[in-house]
Amino acid sequence: MLVVQKYGGTSVGSLERIENVAKRVAKAREENKDLVIVVSAMSGETNKLIEYAHYFSKNPSPRELDILLSSGERVTAALLAIALQEMGHKAIALTGRQAGIKTDKTHTYARIESIDTSRLKNEISKGNIVIVAGFQGINQNGEVTTLGRGGSDLSAVALAGALKADACEIYSDVDGIYTTDPRIEPKAKKLDFISYEEMLELSSLGAKVLQNRSVELAKKMGVKIVARSSFSDNEGTVIYKKEGENMEEVLVSGVALDKNQARVSLREVTDRPGIAAEIFKKLAEKNINVDMIIQNASTNTTNNEKTTNLGFTVAQNQLDDAKKVIEDFDHDIGSSDYDENVAKVSVVGVGMKSHSGVAATAFEALAKNGINIEMISTSEIKISMIIDEKFSELAVRVLHEVYGLDK
Ligand code: ADP
Ligand code: ASP
Ligand code: MG
Repeated sequence: MLVVQKYGGTSVGSLERIENVAKRVAKAREENKDLVIVVSAMSGETNKLIEYAHYFSKNPSPRELDILLSSGERVTAALLAIALQEMGHKAIALTGRQAGIKTDKTHTYARIESIDTSRLKNEISKGNIVIVAGFQGINQNGEVTTLGRGGSDLSAVALAGALKADACEIYSDVDGIYTTDPRIEPKAKKLDFISYEEMLELSSLGAKVLQNRSVELAKKMGVKIVARSSFSDNEGTVIYKKEGENMEEVLVSGVALDKNQARVSLREVTDRPGIAAEIFKKLAEKNINVDMIIQNASTNTTNNEKTTNLGFTVAQNQLDDAKKVIEDFDHDIGSSDYDENVAKVSVVGVGMKSHSGVAATAFEALAKNGINIEMISTSEIKISMIIDEKFSELAVRVLHEVYGLDK
């Protein structure tokens, strides 16, 4: 039996915790499992390295940034291998490159293109526990790349898929996937199972317990993910493939919060065909991810020109870049304003497909608590709302309660 285990930042956050992980890995080994272990950097380490780079430059070169950031994961991989060797186990630490992880050329958020598993298989057959530094790979020019924040989850799923592992266990400081972030709502309930679709929505909408790209890949490759805690032996949450449509579906399975949002409002935008296309194309060219978009019905100005208002959200760290793009459209935009103090709160559930009134319940619950909704977007299985950031936690608790998730 081959198992891929991934230990996140908190699980390897100190030398004692690395030792704790070593003991857990040793125990699995003693149950005769073949093991590939993926590790994150010690918690806070990646942020610290980014700060170091910013000491010297506002815009550090992405290539150098990748060399810097990939080092955090190498530290933990090497330390864990040393700890296991000291306990009498055969273990070897590998960088992303040595593990055969090949990516595209994009620095700081590269995509995995393929994995050459020959070295990994060889090390496993020699009886080694293979420890892989997460969050990194190599591009076709031999340059080190990293996979985007939270990317060690992606490394683990990709390795599990390529090796056809029996399971991919993701260990963090929570013992599974909850109906919402248990740090915000202590009444949140642990789910025994959650479908890939719902998990993908939750993580894309802000639940960082699993990186969204890793869920997407797991769904595509049919990798079985189990989310568990490295601090307990509790059963975790299994992320599964929904079979058929006739299963009794819960209406709402979770609430997610994303504070990393900023709102852009453009007023008196010249209303001519193609203007929206031009603005959003320019934003896309700068790799700015636009999330919610609303455009109002156009109105006539005094000199009988048609104008409209356009609003959208971007990630907070992309707001400055977005502003620059907007400035180039000076002649087409009357005025613009920006708000960094907004948050996105979302309700997710596959059962919404077949029920009406789910959205109304959310709007009503927020209104009752004096929380104004600035923007709304919906899909078949989610409702997202932009609100004032200061109401974030309250909104999560209110929505959690109104859908009976604490029951
Ligand atoms: P790691 O460092 O191991 O990768 P993360 O910090 O990325 O771990 O993810 C674990 C955290 O995710 C938890 O501490 C919890 O606060 C948060 N979280 C957010 N939403 C959820 C949820 N729905 N279920 C469980 N944890 C969640
Ligand atoms: N260390 C990286 C980060 O903090 C990757 C990871 O932990 O998954 O984003
Ligand atoms: Mg994580």
